[in-house]
Amino acid sequence: MTMRYADVVVDLSADAVDRFFTYAVPDDMPVGPGWQVNVPFGPRALEGFVVRMKDSCDLPPNKVKPIRDCVRDYAVVLPDLMELSDWMHKRYVCNRVDTLRLMIPAKMRGDRVHEAQTRFAHLTLNAEEARAFIENNKRAKAQCALVESLLEGDKPTPELNSSALRALVEKGAVVCTLEERFRTPASLKHIEPAADPELMPEQKRAVDQINAALEKDGGRFLLNGVTGSGKTEVYIRVIRHALAMGKSAIVLVPEIALTPQMVSWLHARFGDTAAVLHSRLSDGERYDEWRRIRFGKAKVVIGARSAVFAPVENLGVIVVDEEHEHTYQSDKRPRYDAREVARHRAESAGAVLILGSATPSVETYMRVQPTVRPENRLELIELRQRVKGRPLPEVDVVDMRGELEKGNRSIFSTKLLVSLKHCLAEGRQAILFMNRRGYSTFVSCRACGYVVKCGQCDVSMTYHRTDETLRCHYCGATQAPPKVCPQCGSRYIKYFGVGTQQVEEEVKKCFPEARTVRMDNDTTRQKDAHEKLIDEFRSGRANVMIGTQMIAKGLDFPNVTLVGVIAADATLNLPDYRSVERTFQLLTQVSGRAGRADVPGKVVIQTYDPDHYGIRLAAKQDFRAFYEKESVFRRRALYPPFTVIARIVYTAKTAEQAQAAAEADAEKLDQWIDETGIRRDVIQMRALEAPISLLRGMSRWQIFMKVYFRVDMNAVAVKMQSLADSVPDGISAEVEINPTNLF
Ligand code: ADP
Ligand code: ZN
Ligand code: ZN
Repeated sequence: MTMRYADVVVDLSADAVDRFFTYAVPDDMPVGPGWQVNVPFGPRALEGFVVRMKDSCDLPPNKVKPIRDCVRDYAVVLPDLMELSDWMHKRYVCNRVDTLRLMIPAKMRGDRVHEAQTRFAHLTLNAEEARAFIENNKRAKAQCALVESLLEGDKPTPELNSSALRALVEKGAVVCTLEERFRTPASLKHIEPAADPELMPEQKRAVDQINAALEKDGGRFLLNGVTGSGKTEVYIRVIRHALAMGKSAIVLVPEIALTPQMVSWLHARFGDTAAVLHSRLSDGERYDEWRRIRFGKAKVVIGARSAVFAPVENLGVIVVDEEHEHTYQSDKRPRYDAREVARHRAESAGAVLILGSATPSVETYMRVQPTVRPENRLELIELRQRVKGRPLPEVDVVDMRGELEKGNRSIFSTKLLVSLKHCLAEGRQAILFMNRRGYSTFVSCRACGYVVKCGQCDVSMTYHRTDETLRCHYCGATQAPPKVCPQCGSRYIKYFGVGTQQVEEEVKKCFPEARTVRMDNDTTRQKDAHEKLIDEFRSGRANVMIGTQMIAKGLDFPNVTLVGVIAADATLNLPDYRSVERTFQLLTQVSGRAGRADVPGKVVIQTYDPDHYGIRLAAKQDFRAFYEKESVFRRRALYPPFTVIARIVYTAKTAEQAQAAAEADAEKLDQWIDETGIRRDVIQMRALEAPISLLRGMSRWQIFMKVYFRVDMNAVAVKMQSLADSVPDGISAEVEINPTNLF
């Protein structure tokens, strides 16, 4: 009998072990590529992933140890995902195991596993009895909380407070059972099945074209449809076709909590065949959904970026909805771009890739141009009409400078006030959009210009009205607002700008009949908070929704007839080359929330810069004209996608340390540029302080490099990573290629 061997990647993220280790496979052990195993490793035991099997081994037999055992009796990483891991390892210059870890729920690694069977806690009380229990046991807080949480449904016991659980079991209020059960995420309960509507002609053409590719060997499409054109229905029909062919589908959305409708639509149409994967699920829920997918019970997966690794077999289609959103790029190592990974995975599976957006990124849209090489090109499909011939909303751009001249100092223009009044009087709903990120309420001295900044982060602090504190949005530090200026002693210290809280207060003041709901970082901290707030608005209990970026995307409320943008230019002049693009996208998206059903919508955009092309063209929802303008600007100013930005960020206790490391590496990089002969393609390369030079108390420097896109970026990334890997102790260095944020 021939010996069998397995090459294993051990589950330890360190450069030194980023390679294959060969182990012998005991005779009777069923194991194969993608299996998770326990292996001896020096004096200890580690988990690992079998990458491949082989019949021979170069090492002397006494050097080869056997695999101890298998963690699970099936492959946790499917063959095409194993191949994807290999590709990512090279593409993103990261350790192999970092990519493999993305492919299984965290719960399945280490000792955190609770195998197939789990103990579940079940409440024996009905709702009324439970309420009585809580009333009578007020002092046993943990028990009350547990009862409350079990009212929502049974919970796996490892997730619960054990002493409270024991007490409740003793009182007979709870029983625990050992069983295998797939926990359904709360967001998916009570969804009614729905029938297919008849497609609009444009939708039908899109579906036919994509389905044809699905039947051949795949294809890549950009579905550019105006807001309300029914892109989701196109996805659904293509997925249905894929299912009929015995294939599966993955739908990526920017952030699950912000797009609950996509989840419920897909569930309404595909029932239990659909599964969700995202970070807000509990560990148990995620593990269960993952297994439903792995064992073929669910064939349509919806999730945020990491769902691109869902263990589906026979992949037919990957949809990336709102493809322009920056959440598709991971901000931790491995810094992968889910769109790029989706493309690679779809290609190797012969599947169809659909990128969808009303406002595609400049980078993506460039790839539909006929001059792009066929292997990189995307096929453009346009939906120019809203469904059922609904008109695009009528948009008024209001020049706020004029309001000030007329003596209106309120945050609302007369036009917005009048429109809001009409809207509420007619029993309709309104959305008010406040882009707080660029327009926060910082505190500044009118006499000397002093701005209160976080002592740890070198960014201005934001005033929070509810508890009258100043808060740092980067590190969470708080302090009391100063009464006099710490710099000049003046008492003219003022709050600038407006935030969502202030908008809400103003609405309540002007319209006592308004029932407001506010969605921003403060109101959505808790699990399921998004859904509750969205539900409050959808049900009509609230009639004015006030929010930040998070309400701009994908929401579809038929009764919304007015959208007001409080300060359109708030994000126009941020120190980032994408600030105009982001403003355009946000304004187009948020305007698209109006008039989505049978009553036409209206949008009021308030701005101090009404002639700016980013604002003008968003008001017209004219993506193509915007793209023409913006790409000329990018090309002239040598910005991506015409160039590539790469940087290494150095973080250290002192600025001197960070600077020294950055400058030393810049010198080495400079030398390397000469050696490889790419000098003439390098537009810029230097060490300088990072825009936010202090973050969470640590000093930051960077090497900033801009090159023409013909440069072999993989070589640059490898070089940068090797520099980053060898920084002195006490300094950390992170490589970023085309980062979404340049702070
Ligand atoms: P988009 O994503 O392009 O902004 P949606 O997919 O949200 O548009 O669709 C807008 C609305 O139109 C949704 O309420 C959807 O249910 C509805 N819709 C889509 N296609 C059709 C159709 N063919 N017939 C009737 N209603 C449709
Ligand atoms: Zn001052
Ligand atoms: Zn801070």
